[in-house]
Amino acid sequence: MQKREPEAFMREEYEKLVAADLDWKLRTLQGPTGPRAIVDGKKSIVLCSNNYLNLSAHPKVREAGKKAMDTHGAGSGSVRPIAGNMDLHEELERRIAKFKHRQAALYYMSGFAGNAGLIPQLAGEGDALFTDELNHGSIIDGVRLTKATRFIYKHNDVADLERALKEADPKFKKLLVISDGVFSMDGDIAPVGDIANVAEEWGAMVYIDDAHGEGVLGDGGRGVASHFHVEDKIQVELGTFSKALGVVGGYVAGSNDLRNYALNKSRTWLLSGTPTPSTTASCIAAIDVLETEPQHVKNLWENTNYFKKELKSMGFDIGRSETPITPVMTGDPTTAKKLSQRLFELGVFRGSARS
Ligand SMILES: *Cc1c(COP(=O)(O)O)cnc(C)c1O
Repeated sequence: MQKREPEAFMREEYEKLVAADLDWKLRTLQGPTGPRAIVDGKKSIVLCSNNYLNLSAHPKVREAGKKAMDTHGAGSGSVRPIAGNMDLHEELERRIAKFKHRQAALYYMSGFAGNAGLIPQLAGEGDALFTDELNHGSIIDGVRLTKATRFIYKHNDVADLERALKEADPKFKKLLVISDGVFSMDGDIAPVGDIANVAEEWGAMVYIDDAHGEGVLGDGGRGVASHFHVEDKIQVELGTFSKALGVVGGYVAGSNDLRNYALNKSRTWLLSGTPTPSTTASCIAAIDVLETEPQHVKNLWENTNYFKKELKSMGFDIGRSETPITPVMTGDPTTAKKLSQRLFELGVFRGSARS
């Protein structure tokens, strides 16, 4: 028998990706991100980051991080439930809750960790879970960890969701509806108002992942629930500091019941370290900036509207985008790749590419 080569499968798989031109080719930023950055040694306009408001560079956000490094050290020393729960973490959670007009919030390592840790605790055997077919990969992974029965409804199709709820209603105990607030590929907005109303009729819990809505939509950038004025009909709002807020870390916001439950049940929270004091302090400062400097969200929308208008007037198809996420539909991957390459030569960076 031939001896096993334990790593061969990785090389073979990688070579297949390379042959199909489907491997990720990473570009490198030399220095900070921002509207302009040095990418692979070249001064570029950045059109592909999620740092929508450039808060990563905001003096208050940077200073807060530096200061916390001095006052609280580089790390928290433990997972939070044992010995790593710091005043900064609790202050941030109070600030998130206040900003989101919620009773409470819980801060996770990342938005991904929030979805992967909380979703499996909200629905289990005998429950039904309803998820949009285009939901984010971190929701898909969270859903895969549950023993609940899954209903995948058509993208943004509330009638299809309602059909599934009706079908499931007599057979299951709890019902849980999960959707992205803003879809990260096409930039379209979920009909969160209608989703909330339909869910209310069936007594279903609503979980909205608003990673791309916060700092972008709603009153002062409070997100998609605020945009549709249905905060009181949505039980779980998941957010992240890695996008518009310009730092890193995730959170869920909702009732005191939600926080108590998530804190005691989410394994990604209980068994994983916490973002550093410096990161936490920068997150607090980022919320502070959103609350006190409304011009950033206003500028974002002025830039977005200008950019979309000019792209359209040049004849580009920008799909169904309603947010700053603006796809350009070229029709086929080869044209997309050529366009991307040419833009990079011209000093416009639209993302590391898989094709
Ligand atoms: C980016 C993103 C996440 C992950 O957030 P992180 O905090 O970066 O882990 C989750 N959900 C959606 C919809 C996202 O776009």
